[in-house]
Amino acid sequence: MKVMVFNSGSSSIKYRLFDMGDRSVLASGMLERIGEEDACLEHEYVLPAGGRHRITRTHPVLHHREAMRQINAALRETEAYRDASELLGIGHRMAHGGEAFREPTLIDGRTLEAIRRLTPLAPLHNPAMVTGIDEALAAFPGVPQVAVFDTAFHHTLPPHAYRYAVPREFFDRYHVRRYGFHGTSIRYVVKQAARRMGRDLASLNLIVLHLGNGSSAAAVRGGVSIDTSMGMTPLAGLVMGTRCGDLDPAAVFHLLRQTGESREQLEDVLNKDSGMRGLCGRNDMREIQRLAGAGDADSQLALDIFVYSIKKYVGAYYAVLGRVDAIVFTGGIGENSALVRERVCEGLDGLGIAVDPAKNDACPRTGGAIHRDFSRVAVLVESTDEQLEIAEQTVETLRRHGEATHLFSGCK
Ligand code: AMP
Repeated sequence: MKVMVFNSGSSSIKYRLFDMGDRSVLASGMLERIGEEDACLEHEYVLPAGGRHRITRTHPVLHHREAMRQINAALRETEAYRDASELLGIGHRMAHGGEAFREPTLIDGRTLEAIRRLTPLAPLHNPAMVTGIDEALAAFPGVPQVAVFDTAFHHTLPPHAYRYAVPREFFDRYHVRRYGFHGTSIRYVVKQAARRMGRDLASLNLIVLHLGNGSSAAAVRGGVSIDTSMGMTPLAGLVMGTRCGDLDPAAVFHLLRQTGESREQLEDVLNKDSGMRGLCGRNDMREIQRLAGAGDADSQLALDIFVYSIKKYVGAYYAVLGRVDAIVFTGGIGENSALVRERVCEGLDGLGIAVDPAKNDACPRTGGAIHRDFSRVAVLVESTDEQLEIAEQTVETLRRHGEATHLFSGCK
């Protein structure tokens, strides 16, 4: 039972082919610099005798259609894959599902049209993902395809968490509200955390910190999201690699008046040249940590601001949840940076949060518990796998719709 997962961006497509029997990855890759003469495809697949084979190809790929064709051709070279008839389904990562999409959705003409209508809410993220769906529909005809939305996990937010204090019309007519993102990752890691704790997810109150190039915090009660730091778009909340996070909206009007930059330019700056990059000129946490350690004042301040913004959300969500069973770190930074984990939890003994420095330093990327034995709140590192979660959601959605039932016979 094979499932393909696509994550399409404006100039790249990432993909992964899973064998859902044992959840193993049969092939994976990324085609970058779509639209350029030197677009690069990196494709890796497992060999039947064990080990992996890697292909790197550089040639012009001028649009997503050609990109999908190249990926399809590379897949056919994968020994564990013959052609699309072997695919149970294809899952697509979608950034914004608006209010309409509260769960993964089987794609047909009507849903695709509804997804297209969400573009004004997510002009920076959704269009490339829709193009990816269009091209996958053309390249893999007859294979059922499912859209999995980053926002869907947060559809459970109560109105007091998702409404903004703006005139009602902005909500009714323009759908201005908090939606939240990173939902696919959070859904995956809360299940992992419950498994690690040997507890039923329904009994747990968790604060999830997804810290990567994009970062967000979420309060999850009984497996259900009740608040999250990203907002109508992924620009809000924590300080991120290149996104500003929480910012007084009046600063935007001030900058529009003072700088002479257009709305589009300013939107670009707040998304791509702000956050850690705006503060210290870099957005790679490894480098920022190295420079901060070597005494670079801008990097030290950027790290202080990053950690401080996370700590404030931990405090806020502690209050929101009332009781916290575990703090869960995930994402490239959350999984790898013992320093960030240590600093986020520093001084929180009063809240029953005590990290064990030795466990924290020794924690592998695959995850583990890093709290002291007496810590009232568990502190966990969980390795996220959004692609696998999308593949699982794809299977679940197809099962719900009775698609390809013959393929499910005999499957768990
Ligand atoms: P993601 O967006 O989840 O892939 O995370 C990317 C971020 O993780 C980048 O800022 C990386 O610098 C950071 N990262 C990856 N490995 C490490 C590490 N060993 N220590 C600190 N940060 C890391």
